[in-house]
Amino acid sequence: MKLFAIFGDPVEHSRSPLMHNHVFRQLGFDGCYTRIHLQDGEKLKETFFNLNLSGANVTVPHKEAAFKACDEVRGFAKKIGVVNTLINENGRLIGYNTDADGFLYAIKPFTGIKTILLLGAGGTAKALANKFIDEGFTTTVLNRSVNRLEYFKALGLTCHSWEDMPVDSYDLIVNTTSAGLKDDHLPAPEALLKPLLQSCRFGADAIYGKVTPFLQLCSNLEITAKDGSDMLLGQGVLANSYFTNGEFDLESIEEPMKTSFNF
Ligand code: NDP
Repeated sequence: MKLFAIFGDPVEHSRSPLMHNHVFRQLGFDGCYTRIHLQDGEKLKETFFNLNLSGANVTVPHKEAAFKACDEVRGFAKKIGVVNTLINENGRLIGYNTDADGFLYAIKPFTGIKTILLLGAGGTAKALANKFIDEGFTTTVLNRSVNRLEYFKALGLTCHSWEDMPVDSYDLIVNTTSAGLKDDHLPAPEALLKPLLQSCRFGADAIYGKVTPFLQLCSNLEITAKDGSDMLLGQGVLANSYFTNGEFDLESIEEPMKTSFNF
């Protein structure tokens, strides 16, 4: 049996074991997927091989550490320096990123998107910003601290911290910060966020499985918004396809994975 895991801190909330185990069972794939609470990102590679994993997902806050740990990084992950999916290929650690395509899958129902305000400047924001550029969306980044904005400025994006953010209108505002994951914080002060949301059409949170303060504010303002469940589904389907070495088509993986969300 092949063993898979998700690494994160925190990781107890992760739905990935449920999703992947259900797909493995339904497709008759001999695999088992567990969760590993990892505090020190430096220990990722050694833990992966000590446990003899065939593959893994990586969540907060280790995605950039995962990129550094890889023997080889492929595709979009190479461009962005952020890895969320790991594969053991004959004892070599191979890295991929499936988050950004997962997010595009999630916002398919939001039609007519041209301008996006991205809240946060961590690993997820890097992935999405690059994908948004590829997709032709006009993207602005707003982050609590200025340091991490350098990366986005280098991509040619308009960037602001809380101190210098003007009230502009956007089609979509996306929360990629971890505010609301373990606490009750908004991703930006309410006095700043509220007028921005009031002039936007859609909201999306990367956090899933709970009504975050960001989603609550969207709901109070009657803005159509979704949590990160569909993003999770989209990235999970692609990751599972790597885990099962392309043995099954994406639709065959998507169906049982979607069902696992009802458990
Ligand atoms: P990182 O740790 O790389 O980045 C965190 C970002 O959040 C930073 O920009 C940080 O700002 C900001 N931040 C943290 N706390 C606060 C706060 N209280 N107020 C405002 N900003 C804050 O995290 P990731 O990018 O890896 O993940 C971000 C979120 O996305 C997580 O909640 C994760 O669960 C979720 N996610 C969901 C996925 C899905 O499939 N649904 C997939 C990927 C991620 P600063 O620079 O100032 O510290």
